[in-house]
Amino acid sequence: MRKIISTRPFISNGLIQEYPLTKLSGTALWQQVQAVTKSAFSSGALKSIPTRCIERQVTLGQISLHLQVRIVANLARKSKATKDAASQVKKPGDFDPFLPYEPALYVGELTNHYRCLLNKFNVMDHHILMVTTEFAYQREPLNSEDFYAALICLQAQRGLVFFNGGPDAGSSITHKHLQMIPLTENENSYPFEPLFKPLSLTVEGSKQSALPFPHRVATTCYPVGKEPDEIRRYAELNCRNYHKILSELELQNMADGLAPAHNLLMTRDHLWVVPRSQSSYNNLAINALGFAGTILVKDDQQLTQLDQIGCLELLKNVTPD
Ligand code: AMP
Repeated sequence: MRKIISTRPFISNGLIQEYPLTKLSGTALWQQVQAVTKSAFSSGALKSIPTRCIERQVTLGQISLHLQVRIVANLARKSKATKDAASQVKKPGDFDPFLPYEPALYVGELTNHYRCLLNKFNVMDHHILMVTTEFAYQREPLNSEDFYAALICLQAQRGLVFFNGGPDAGSSITHKHLQMIPLTENENSYPFEPLFKPLSLTVEGSKQSALPFPHRVATTCYPVGKEPDEIRRYAELNCRNYHKILSELELQNMADGLAPAHNLLMTRDHLWVVPRSQSSYNNLAINALGFAGTILVKDDQQLTQLDQIGCLELLKNVTPD
């Protein structure tokens, strides 16, 4: 896999110097994610949150969906990891954990504008973050540089890239970041995928599936080649489709140039966008992963609440009517 070299400035003897930074992609990127995971786990920098996973079946038309509900494990709720996770949520709005980032969680540079870190409080293994090297607002609409970083990660590992566009869409950090969790090779690798397959989607037009909340789904323009120019061209195509979908969903930029709350989800096959009205309903928080068909709850009490509301009804309640 071709590596791209750029430089990062540093000060030595009062002079600004530059040392080369290798850009990671392909197998090298994923090997580095695995290596840094091992070292960050041993050093205690990675504060994984253990969960147990159960299934909830929902039928839409002829299609049976197997939603995943993850419940934070009993022991973990009292552990330091969970306290740390909780305290980071309470940090003031201007707290930026990505500038500076924790060196133990640093995977490498992806592009001139993006670097890759491990998610410190991960629920799933190898949950990575793509963060901008310079500060940008999470509520800025995505541009082709964002899609370029996303495609580099999707090429390195089959996965689900997601974006929580603003606090009402489930984001807790103001510094712009996308995220990716790996997907297994199983056919139903994310619970809502069976609904997308029969839609005969194209890259040109987006469609609404049978899911009972507003959203649009299209085919991802996924590059086969690994040359940066080709990946960049595909990133631009995906970015154009994303903006088309935003206008179809009437998610035009607001007067301050920021985008209304929404989630983007993207695999090698599908790209979908969901507008958001609020981050939670009855204290059950939903981020982009909810719209892949996976829901995280804090404890059994929340699981009971979720069962009373119903998974799809919960998703309806955090999206506009
Ligand atoms: P979001 O809540 O969607 O804005 O995503 C931000 C993610 O960053 C969360 O999943 C956190 O677990 C993760 N996170 C918080 N602090 C750090 C940190 N210091 N380094 C890496 N990841 C972090």
